[in-house]
Amino acid sequence: MSNSRISGLYRLSVNDRIGELVKRGFLSRDAAKALLDGAPLLPLSTADRMAENVIGVFGLPFGIAPNFLVNDKDYVVPMVVEEPSIIAGVSGAARIFRDSGGFVATSTDPILIGQIQIVGVRDPDKAVQSLFSAQDELISLANSLQPNLGKRGGGARGMEFYKYRLPDGDWTVVLHLLVDTRDAMGANIVNTMCEGLAARVEEICSGNVVLRILSNLADKSLVKAKATIALASLGSDEHSAEFVRDGIVLATDFANTDPYRAATHNKGIMNGVDALAIATGNDWRAIEAGAHAFAVKEGAYRSLTSWSVESNGDLTGELTMPLKVGIVGGSLASNPGARTGLAIAGVSSATELARLMAATGLAQNFAALRALVTHGIQKGHMSLHARSVAAAAGIPDEQFDNVVAGMIESGDVKTWKAEELASSATPDGMPDEPLTGNAAIGEACAKVILLGEHAAVYDRHVLALPIAAAVTAQIAERESGIRLSIPQWGIHDDWSDRNRKPGGASIIIDLIMLQLGLTKRGFDIRVSSRVPMGMGLGSSAAFAVAVIRAFDKLLGLNQTDLEIDRLAFRCEGLAHGTPSGIDNNIATFGEPVLYSRGSSERTIPVSLVEIPPLVIASSGIKGDTKEMVAGVRSRYEQNEALYTTIFDEIGELSVAGATALREADYAYLGSMMNVCQGFLNAIEVSTPELEKMIHIARSAGAIGAKLTGAGGGGSIVALCPGKVNEVSEALGLAGYEIIRMAADGDQRD
Ligand code: NAD
Repeated sequence: MSNSRISGLYRLSVNDRIGELVKRGFLSRDAAKALLDGAPLLPLSTADRMAENVIGVFGLPFGIAPNFLVNDKDYVVPMVVEEPSIIAGVSGAARIFRDSGGFVATSTDPILIGQIQIVGVRDPDKAVQSLFSAQDELISLANSLQPNLGKRGGGARGMEFYKYRLPDGDWTVVLHLLVDTRDAMGANIVNTMCEGLAARVEEICSGNVVLRILSNLADKSLVKAKATIALASLGSDEHSAEFVRDGIVLATDFANTDPYRAATHNKGIMNGVDALAIATGNDWRAIEAGAHAFAVKEGAYRSLTSWSVESNGDLTGELTMPLKVGIVGGSLASNPGARTGLAIAGVSSATELARLMAATGLAQNFAALRALVTHGIQKGHMSLHARSVAAAAGIPDEQFDNVVAGMIESGDVKTWKAEELASSATPDGMPDEPLTGNAAIGEACAKVILLGEHAAVYDRHVLALPIAAAVTAQIAERESGIRLSIPQWGIHDDWSDRNRKPGGASIIIDLIMLQLGLTKRGFDIRVSSRVPMGMGLGSSAAFAVAVIRAFDKLLGLNQTDLEIDRLAFRCEGLAHGTPSGIDNNIATFGEPVLYSRGSSERTIPVSLVEIPPLVIASSGIKGDTKEMVAGVRSRYEQNEALYTTIFDEIGELSVAGATALREADYAYLGSMMNVCQGFLNAIEVSTPELEKMIHIARSAGAIGAKLTGAGGGGSIVALCPGKVNEVSEALGLAGYEIIRMAADGDQRD
């Protein structure tokens, strides 16, 4: 097992986190594949066999907490929990504990108590005496009822006897059967034994057996996790180490004095314990019942942890609690999610799992107390919330922290605020200065290809639609040099300092300025885009057209659309190698078209009765159009006849698709999109990620879905009559960015 210290895990995509677990040996490739598929880990048919009256499978986030070091072994803790900050808190705490040597966890044998209650005895002491004398016989009888348990090194180990006076004054005798249930939680094992002993117990003590069931106060199965944190690792910029340490000790004293506080204190511990219990298919109600009964065992409800100061000033924490868990039995065999959780935890016995659970509980307690005695817990919650809003808004890495901080500071933790902050910020977090002088604005459409990509390069028809007002450029003259900023694409370039990287957006600006005869002049160019870059949506052509138009207006050049289109086509040549011409066409004219570079009538407008119910989603993975086109070219050259047939078929789909689109015959159009996706797969431009997105869209109600653009990453387009919201939501929830067809979001469902 490799190192569980994983830094920056929260910054990775879900897929990359899974990849990291595989790389480090915490997850098998098969388990990773099941997670990557995105389907529910528990199939409905299995759920229907696990409980009664099932109507579905309920979802909860399945996360991981890295950094755990327990008894010198590295662990990544699987956690199923819906509350924000828990996983972040425990991961950070585990890192601090790790730096001080990690946790030492110990435990008793995994003994579960079974109770047999006897009533109707005339003399309770005599009944206890008789049972005591017969205990060897009763233990053998219990073990004969679970022979396999003995073979595994477990079995009934002993008995205890109690007598209580009931409220009506009668006596009841209680026999405790102590059973080592090894790697099973043991409820059914112990219940079977208790029920099997009942008749013989009645004979021995001349009473009547009533209840025969395990006790969840599993105090014969105690686990202890302990760790010492070096004083030096407790401080922060705002709080001294001593302040934090003494605050934690004081908070625990408070919990030991006041049950109102103790309940919340212990709830924090259970945040970690339960999350791991659920992730590994364990019965968390049993664990909860045992924990709280144990916490009140001395008569008052108290903290399950203790925190004390060592003679050298370090802080030592200790959690002792009953933990009767299993790595076999229960729902574990049938629940694939629990099997995955167990595999990630990497435990080989129930005892090892219980020790890891106690360490998780102690780390969680530390995280909560440290936050409470310093900045309070709302700050952590708010920053986590802001991070997820920033991620959902697609804020690029280089702006991420500034945008998160800006949202928290403003109090508006909202997507619109994230977008507003991103579009007005430079990489150093400073808002762009307003443009001075007479700035001119140019606008252009991006495009979505419904049918025909790649075949278009071979002069077949392609059917494409504009994504309205996708890119806006604002240009003002300045004294010298070029300053280019495109916040949504993370581009902030300044020619005047001669430090700009070659390539990308700057060479397009160079070409445009050369063609327009502007090389000697200085401009400030601000571009804003609502389509991501490199995602197959014609962002580069839209960028070129918007910039050309802004120059045109600023300098009164009076170019025709045809001239703008031609210049944008040249820019596309720089960006993509062999452009089909469709991107610049749509960017310039903003009309749905059936386009063919080879036909005499290049573009046939497709007039629409409505904006079609399309959902466009970006995978976030950049596809290299040049590379994809070149790959198809080389396969075409190796197998010309086959590829020619495929291109012919795709071209025909585009022509028929245009008719279906005009007539709003979505059922037909959807099936053509599905067939086209088959062809795109055949020419090897689809990817597992795109296939997954298509699967999500189809499952949420899309009648047709395919990749759009060059593939190899990029985006998908799905046709969703009546299901635009559902499909957008499903793809959005899976972490993909949704791009609206209309700038104002006004799109029929
Ligand atoms: P179980 O009924 O599936 O029994 C465990 C099985 O695993 C036994 O047949 C045992 O022989 C076998 N086994 C294989 N390898 C083993 C190993 N190495 N060590 C031990 N046993 C091994 O499971 P269980 O643990 O007896 O019962 C747990 C379930 O009981 C949980 O689902 C729980 O929700 C439920 N339950 C709980 C309560 C309660 O807590 N009050 C009451 C009733 C039921």
